[in-house]
Amino acid sequence: MEKPSASVIGAGLAGCEAAHTLSRMGIRVRLYEMKPQKHTPAHKSNDLCELVCSNSLRSDKLDNAVGLLKEELRRLGSLVMECADATRVPAGGALAVDREGFSKMVTERIKSDPNIELISEEVTSVPDAPVIIATGPLTDGELMKSIEALLGDSLHFFDAAAPIVTLDSLDMNKVKRASRYDRGSDYLNCPMTMLEYYSFVRALVSAETAPLHGFEDKSVFEGCMPVEVMARRGDQTLAFGPMKPVGLTDLTASDGKKPYAVVQLRQDNAEGTLYNIVGFQTNLKFPEQRRVFGMIPGLENAEFMRYGVMHRNSYLKSPKHLTSEYELRERSGVFFAGQITGVEGYIESAASGFYAGLCLARKLKGLSSIDFSRKTAIGALAHYVSEYNGGSFQPMNINFGIMQSLENAPRDKLKRYSLISERALNEIDELTFEDRIWK
Ligand SMILES: Cc1cc2nc3c(=O)[nH]c(=O)nc-3n(C[C@H](O)[C@H](O)[C@H](O)COP(=O)(O)OP(=O)(O)OC[C@H]3O[C@@H](n4cnc5c(N)ncnc54)[C@H](O)[C@@H]3O)c2cc1C
Repeated sequence: MEKPSASVIGAGLAGCEAAHTLSRMGIRVRLYEMKPQKHTPAHKSNDLCELVCSNSLRSDKLDNAVGLLKEELRRLGSLVMECADATRVPAGGALAVDREGFSKMVTERIKSDPNIELISEEVTSVPDAPVIIATGPLTDGELMKSIEALLGDSLHFFDAAAPIVTLDSLDMNKVKRASRYDRGSDYLNCPMTMLEYYSFVRALVSAETAPLHGFEDKSVFEGCMPVEVMARRGDQTLAFGPMKPVGLTDLTASDGKKPYAVVQLRQDNAEGTLYNIVGFQTNLKFPEQRRVFGMIPGLENAEFMRYGVMHRNSYLKSPKHLTSEYELRERSGVFFAGQITGVEGYIESAASGFYAGLCLARKLKGLSSIDFSRKTAIGALAHYVSEYNGGSFQPMNINFGIMQSLENAPRDKLKRYSLISERALNEIDELTFEDRIWK
């Protein structure tokens, strides 16, 4: 009997992982990649699975959610993790890779897989099902128009995101709850003295930034200006802009006086465990965000669940369109994976590729679906993108805040995170016991 077949569009982190998973399930795959004929503004190499920016895949520790996600993927037989582990370079508690070695290894594995046919071609319209579309955050042109026509919806286009930190990691002796003009206590406020404000602005304007991609249209850039660019316009710009101290009569700064400036944090998830820094969309490099935003009173030890980013980022309104298996509600057999679904980050993209690949393969083979619940990191991402019901849907890195919380959770954060990881890995081990997810 002929093997079932499927197409995967885009051979990045998500597409390669999806193709490998489909192949492992015995599905024949046509993997379409537009390189080397055409590159996005961020892709430079001709190899597959290219890391467009940092060579770090972030923490490799189990008390960190991205460390947990990596370990789940290892246990699930992920190609990206196998190649990352084989090409790792020293990076403390993080997993960083030899960028070229990593991409070359994935490329070789894909090219030598007898179930995968690599087709160097740009895809310009949504293909017939079964298909997984994994063309990444820089998807554009005819394909983007075709996706928009199918969904009857425009894709989000520019991502100018402020950092998100955990409530747990804030110093609540310095952070005060209040809303401007006595409208409740929804916001967290970090009051600053004049000295603190000017030291902060000086550090901000001289901090190192990442290269900008996709902001050729300056009018768009103007509409979502990074906080560091705003600060360069004048010493007072932030104090009259996002850091204005008005309407917060009861606040005092560390010198006991009225604050000179105030940084506000807004709740970012229903559980109230995550907060974003209001008006702080930024293009600073990630370590610089930790250093400079760590100067804000109360944020000295802030744990960043998502760093601020500025890049063109096409992603679906996934809660409206995708199921928790990454399948389009509107059209059976059409799946999406990777950053285009609203997951954020290399490993998160690979994780969604794995999950979409597994779900499509099981569907093609007439097998029951597998639900990775919110107890697992891989499941929490899928549930986040398909079920988010807050204000504006934004791409999200994996974090413990979107996973199912523990009953009787210990107060100690590290203990709590380790227990969540232990529970997640037990779930994964049960699912993979005797290879049951593959049958
Ligand atoms: C500028 C920038 C910097 C980033 N930096 C980081 C970082 O440092 N760390 C981090 O964790 N994440 C980073 N990200 C976010 C994200 O993790 C990466 O973009 C990640 O590569 C997404 O994986 P993906 O598989 O969804 O897409 P990609 O890895 O972008 O893969 C998409 C693939 O599809 C191909 N393709 C696109 N359109 C077509 C088409 N029509 N037909 C055929 N092929 C097509 C592309 O050539 C590409 O190979 C960054 C994103 C951007 C844009």
